[in-house]
Amino acid sequence: MSEGHSGGHHPEPQPYAALRTKAIESLLIEKGLLSTDAIDARVRAYEQDIGPLNGAKVVARAWTDAAYKERLLDDGTSAIAELGFFGAQGAEIVVLENAPAVHNMVVCTLCSCYPWPVLGLPPRWYKSDAYRARAVIEPRAVLQEFGLALDESVELRVWDSNSDIRYMVLPERPEGTDDMDADALAALVTRDSMIGVAKVAAPSPTA
Ligand code: FE
Repeated sequence: MSEGHSGGHHPEPQPYAALRTKAIESLLIEKGLLSTDAIDARVRAYEQDIGPLNGAKVVARAWTDAAYKERLLDDGTSAIAELGFFGAQGAEIVVLENAPAVHNMVVCTLCSCYPWPVLGLPPRWYKSDAYRARAVIEPRAVLQEFGLALDESVELRVWDSNSDIRYMVLPERPEGTDDMDADALAALVTRDSMIGVAKVAAPSPTA
């Protein structure tokens, strides 16, 4: 269940470690020490229960509580832990605030470092060679492909996550949400908006 890091700074990609993990997993299953159900349940927990719902709660709290937002931007790890979210792959989380004139997006150019406690497991595209390379070389084109056309006047900052620091984006609160409470706001926040490849859409007007 590791990302392939053996500790310390970015190691070289480790196909060996991945293969070894797979082999150990197969052996444990064969010997009846581990069930595929148990593995699936843990993966599901990271995909569905742990994130990105946790991140959405963090964002909604920051949108509705100015003091919390200040703590979050000052020390992401501690402010996120206040809400009970911490653990594997979340040693140091730095939160980056998007604003009308500044857009932040996150990548891990060398592997797939990602803030698990708030976002769960990274999506497949985040781990792809194409995203990892192009997010740095032509970030605006990548955003365009995600459906986000940034105005030329907006400063775009690309952050490279690593095994020591993992980034999470605090997206802009959309228009038309003044009456919404934190729970309703959290439901609007998407995983992609917290990676910085999308904005949070305004709620569609109810009939
Ligand atoms: Fe990485």
